[in-house]
Amino acid sequence: MNTFDVRTFGCQMNKHDSERIAGLLLAMGLSHAPEGTAPDVVVFNTCCVRENADGRLYGQVASVKALKLANPETLIAVGGCVGQRDGAAIVAGLPHVDVVFGTHNIGSLPALLNAAAESRRPVVEVSDSSDGDFASDLPTEREHAWHAWVPITVGCDNFCTYCVVPYVRGRERSRTLDDVVTEIGRLITDGVVEVTLLGQNVNSYGRDLYGEPRFAELLTAVAGTGIDRIRFTTSHPKDLSDATIEAMATHPNIARYLHLPVQSGSDDVLKRMNRHYTQEAYLALVARLYAAMPDLALSTDVIVGFPGETESDFEKTMQVVEAARYDQAFTFIYSPREGTPAATMDDQIPREVAQPRFDRLVSAIQASALAKSQAYVGTVQRVLVEGPSKRDAGVLAGRTSGNKMVHAVCPEGVTPTSLAGTFTDVEITDAQTWFLVGSVIT
Ligand code: SAH
Ligand code: SF4
Repeated sequence: MNTFDVRTFGCQMNKHDSERIAGLLLAMGLSHAPEGTAPDVVVFNTCCVRENADGRLYGQVASVKALKLANPETLIAVGGCVGQRDGAAIVAGLPHVDVVFGTHNIGSLPALLNAAAESRRPVVEVSDSSDGDFASDLPTEREHAWHAWVPITVGCDNFCTYCVVPYVRGRERSRTLDDVVTEIGRLITDGVVEVTLLGQNVNSYGRDLYGEPRFAELLTAVAGTGIDRIRFTTSHPKDLSDATIEAMATHPNIARYLHLPVQSGSDDVLKRMNRHYTQEAYLALVARLYAAMPDLALSTDVIVGFPGETESDFEKTMQVVEAARYDQAFTFIYSPREGTPAATMDDQIPREVAQPRFDRLVSAIQASALAKSQAYVGTVQRVLVEGPSKRDAGVLAGRTSGNKMVHAVCPEGVTPTSLAGTFTDVEITDAQTWFLVGSVIT
């Protein structure tokens, strides 16, 4: 075992888990497989939240069989949510897989790989829950030196009826406030300028530890570390408190960006989804947010075609899109997930009915995103530079506080690469739906 490759599917939590997997493998003495070479170890960090990622995974794992035929020493490992859900069944269906590990077993990966290499037989480790330390004590290889994901909770207690996350990630557990703040202090010393606090429902942070949610307190403490920019995701509307809105409005280092999944605008559908809010309550929350922060960028998740969704239910979702002025939305056609209550509800919606609703929704979101983008033209935005843009090496790509991608021409003598990981002021001159264009102010 000399080289490895980690292939990641799904959400930010998985991206962060992959940084830990890479950190562990580097600590074992392995290195990243150079582009174009066959890795000795391939790790799939999988997602089963929606059908398409799930199905792709089985195809991809099957396709690495060729690596094994060329080099029988190659080890294939499958972890993440599919590993947790399917366990040993993966090895039964895909006999060339050597290691299966669950979402609570990342720390065991080195030992599992060694055991599989030695025995030349598949090994499987899937625990029901992690009662040990938070996995963030594991080594981590950050994708960008200046950005860190910081999990504040793992798991979820909400049991939205369509969602598999509570089953594959377990019950919600919070890290202590001190632990989070200490880690961020360390990250600052290490050159990190932006953190993203992660949890399935960050707003309920602390309920298990302190008997009540303490997210606003945590945000305030993190802002007090002096880190340049703080992001967080995901916010469940039922638990977003006024204290949190106030913390966001007060601290300039908390990004003016909120991801607030609505899922549906129909009270009937929301009830069957077990979301615990109404359209009216959601829109009232959005109104309070804009009142406190008129320049807030807002994004959402929407599911179309939930069981029993009528044309009139869908119109109510369109009303929310109209009223909430979203900057961005992640839109999904409902896909039944085995073992969740919605999968066996009556009146599953056929694709031919869901697709046209989905297409209408996407057009409405695009219009809303463009309108929000256009409002930035003529303003100066503080941009965290990520590096050169994909299309033009002389143009920098970076993100505003509101998480808008910006492409900007650099002044003479400055390269995007030299600015990567730093903040720079950009005057916005043009707006497209998904990005802004401007020039760096010198
Ligand atoms: N904890 C977060 C994210 C959960 S998964 C939250 O509560 O928002 C990310 C998104 O995937 C969800 O917000 C939802 O819009 C979508 N999703 C989850 N299960 C789904 C399913 N069975 N079918 C379609 N979309 C789904
Ligand atoms: Fe899934 Fe709902 Fe938990 Fe989000 S809050 S992870 S959608 S159960």
